[in-house]
Amino acid sequence: MRGLLDYHMHSVLSDGAASYEEMTLAAIEKGLSEIGFSDHVCLKPVVWAMQEVDLPVMTRQITDIQDKYGHLINIRYGIELDYFPGKEEHLHRIIQSLPLDYVIGSVHFMGDWNFDGDESLYGKWSNDEVYETYFHLIQKAARSGLFDTIGHLDLIKKFAVYPESDLKKLYLETAAIIKEAGMVVELNTAGFDKPCAEFYPSPQWLEILHSFEIPVTLSSDSHHPRQLARHYQQAIDLLKKTGYHQIVRYQGRKKSWLKI
Ligand SMILES: [Zn+2]
Ligand SMILES: [Zn+2]
Repeated sequence: MRGLLDYHMHSVLSDGAASYEEMTLAAIEKGLSEIGFSDHVCLKPVVWAMQEVDLPVMTRQITDIQDKYGHLINIRYGIELDYFPGKEEHLHRIIQSLPLDYVIGSVHFMGDWNFDGDESLYGKWSNDEVYETYFHLIQKAARSGLFDTIGHLDLIKKFAVYPESDLKKLYLETAAIIKEAGMVVELNTAGFDKPCAEFYPSPQWLEILHSFEIPVTLSSDSHHPRQLARHYQQAIDLLKKTGYHQIVRYQGRKKSWLKI
């Protein structure tokens, strides 16, 4: 996908399979004009995320790769940071300590339950309750003002578990809060390869976001070079059909636009 960007990529520093260099070379090969790395950073001691003490290593590796390949492709420094209510100050300190271009705020936990990695607790509560808890966390993440982009907005559908009721009211309320917070939502194409078999967020969600004039950016959530820019033609078609004709770019946490 020539000239496009991919803003959600993981390397071996978190749970990806390849180095920054391997990912960058694959992105150049695919003709992307801009990429952003976004390794996991998590306050909980999980194996799939960078711990705070290792963050200087990440900054050094990103700087090295920018120096080496910056004449061939724009390379941005992002992180995918787990949101935890009550931990806002600590999260703020981490963000401030790094020379970031953007911060993706993601919810992967409800309490101690890592719901996108551990399927075992679905069914313990009603699906409506699970969805409500999840989207209330997304609302808090948006209101925190910590993040630039909301990661995989409707990740809770990953295992094709859906609410019993029509939760449109909850979605509209969530969209209003995202708009009010001035946040961007990524169209993350990874969901297409998961049991839910559609992008995060869904086409219906994208309609809601568009009706609130909430800007979007584009990403593949790659954990392997072959996943870069996956399903991008379909994503671009969907964005245009929904009414989006530009996507967000970042540099130094400032937004600009890329026409699609
Ligand atoms: Zn994630
Ligand atoms: Zn990710």
